Amino acid sequence: MEKYRCSFCREDIEPGTGKMFVKKDGSVLQFCSRKCEKNMLELKRSPRKVNWIRKKQKIEK
Ligand SMILES: [Zn+2]
Repeated sequence: MEKYRCSFCREDIEPGTGKMFVKKDGSVLQFCSRKCEKNMLELKRSPRKVNWIRKKQKIEK
């Protein structure tokens, strides 16, 4: 089964969950949650500048 990663926080998305978003230029974005979708599309935040993602990535390492 194909696995996706969240385009924003880089977390693995379980098949059947998450959201797919196709941009006008044809590129596809995958989001694990509304939170990530909103941060990227509405707030246009950079994942590197978002505290809760930086914390999460530190824990993984
Ligand atoms: Zn995410």
